[in-house]
Amino acid sequence: QEDVFKKVVSHAKEYGFIFPSSEIYDGLSAIYDYGQNGAELKNNIKQYWWKAMVQLNENIVGIDSAIFMHPTIWKASGHVDAFNDPLIDNKDSKKRFRADVLVEDYCAKIEDKENKEIEKAAKRFGDAFNKAEFVATNPRVLEYRAKREAILSRLAKSLEKEDLADVKALIEELEIADPDTGSKNWTEVRQFNLMFGTKLGASADSATDLYLRPETAQGIFVNYLNVQKTSRHKLPFGIAQIGKAFRNEIVARQFIFRMREFEQMEMQYFVPPGTELEFYEQWKKTRLNWHLALGLGEDNYRFHDHEKLAHYANAAADIEFNFPFGFKELEGIHSRTDFDLSAHEKFSGRKIQYFDPERNENYVPYVVETSVGLDRLFLAIFSNSLKDEVLEDGSERTVLSLPPALAPVKAAILPLVKKDGLPEFADKIFNDLKFDFNVIFEEKDSIGKRYRRQDAIGTPFCITVDHDSLNDNTVTLRYRDTMEQERVPVSELRRIIDEKVNF
Ligand code: ATP
Repeated sequence: QEDVFKKVVSHAKEYGFIFPSSEIYDGLSAIYDYGQNGAELKNNIKQYWWKAMVQLNENIVGIDSAIFMHPTIWKASGHVDAFNDPLIDNKDSKKRFRADVLVEDYCAKIEDKENKEIEKAAKRFGDAFNKAEFVATNPRVLEYRAKREAILSRLAKSLEKEDLADVKALIEELEIADPDTGSKNWTEVRQFNLMFGTKLGASADSATDLYLRPETAQGIFVNYLNVQKTSRHKLPFGIAQIGKAFRNEIVARQFIFRMREFEQMEMQYFVPPGTELEFYEQWKKTRLNWHLALGLGEDNYRFHDHEKLAHYANAAADIEFNFPFGFKELEGIHSRTDFDLSAHEKFSGRKIQYFDPERNENYVPYVVETSVGLDRLFLAIFSNSLKDEVLEDGSERTVLSLPPALAPVKAAILPLVKKDGLPEFADKIFNDLKFDFNVIFEEKDSIGKRYRRQDAIGTPFCITVDHDSLNDNTVTLRYRDTMEQERVPVSELRRIIDEKVNF
């Protein structure tokens, strides 16, 4: 699995999808830049989401609110007081750790031991080995599992109680520090706020302290009245937004899975009080179906219903995806009650109410939100699509089998040779198709090499112009996934490509 992940990271860099930010200055931790192909893929994912959420729902509208917001907003939302992660410093190594990540690491070590035990048994028993049976009866494996569960449940409890002394005791007990960092050198566990602070204004004494927004949702809440009045939507209706969010994550790793600057695609659905759980269930289904439509495999998704709820929620679930490092949160669906709008009423002194003509009463709407990390979705799609294939003739190819609608380049137009008028003919096709699709023209290298390069960036079609093309106005169309080739008239290209890449 680690190898798969390394391959994902290096492929993303080698083919212009994702670069470490500021790389010539040795990079900046947990910040990444999207390259020429990454930017296209990311834009396509955004469009795909926007279309499904805004364009196809007559009662959802989209906005684009500013990253800088009035500082009191983060008081009202609870982020100033409660947006913390427990942090633990190691005196010796001067490194900082997040308590839950230390525990996760430790659990991974136990899991590793368990897997080795299972592997050994599989070798010992050969064909007669039955994993489920072995796991159910082997005392060592059962012990590993019980230990892991006990650790996790104790941590969950002490985090819930915000009992930092308990968290610390648990960490020490785990002797996590032993192997790499030297044990028993922890200082206190303390709460660490994840928001980035900055200043608005030039002079030091009059400058206002601001935060870079840690979520896009608040930009929607504070615009609720503006949008409701100007769009004249009745409840239920939704407001969607795609935008950057910033979190000073203590342990930022796993590539673009957990970054300090990232993008969210959120939708807040405003509903009458008492109906929120019904809409919550509905949105859970709708969002899962949206993910499934990408075709990355049903088994790669699962729900994780939260038992421990955030201060603003009365129900919450994650859609988890099977990343190269296991199932992890991809999207959150939360029933946020009227917590945010009521808090903004209180802190701003403005009424944020809806007059319901059917109920004939005023109330603060309830909110169901769907929130997906754009970068995480990018990683899910990218890692799932990256495949090494052994072909019939024994040779190998790397192919990025992206959903065609999301592919950065839809078609590559390739003159077989750089002479005899073939480039000119290919250029005409390029100039014709470029108004409808992102296409590229490539004439360097052998045709085989050019095909491989397009496979590696996920281009669904290659269009090859040869000498026959000049006579009969046909070209060879090569399909990325099957590598099949067929001869088609130039006049048919637009229709064929469009059929496959349209969402
Ligand atoms: P996690 O538990 O993984 O830190 P979260 O529960 O804090 O995530 P939310 O606040 O619910 O996340 O944010 C909604 C979505 O935003 C998440 O489902 C995830 O896809 C994305 N997201 C959150 N934090 C990050 C991050 N640091 N980098 C990239 N994406 C993120």
